[in-house]
Amino acid sequence: MRSRYRKAEAGFKSLYHFSYACTGCRKSFKRPGGPKAPELRRCPNCGGKAQNVGRHFKAPPATDARQWAKVEFLLEHGFPFHRIYVRGIRVPYP
Ligand SMILES: [Zn+2]
Repeated sequence: MRSRYRKAEAGFKSLYHFSYACTGCRKSFKRPGGPKAPELRRCPNCGGKAQNVGRHFKAPPATDARQWAKVEFLLEHGFPFHRIYVRGIRVPYP
């Protein structure tokens, strides 16, 4: 924990990372997070589009086609995988 703060003091912009999910090759990777983090990045594995799925996304195994189909469906329909707060109170997912 202490080293993370040292990194922040040394000029790193963020203490946390966002996950980016690529449904094309069923992989996720992390990049520095924060309010200016882009919604899309290029997948380092296949070069396709990887979508920002926030800090708490847990990628299913690449071999689990059913779970990745769910992830793809949810992303296509606007589900952000981010935590949502209303007046400081976290809204649970249904
Ligand atoms: Zn990919």
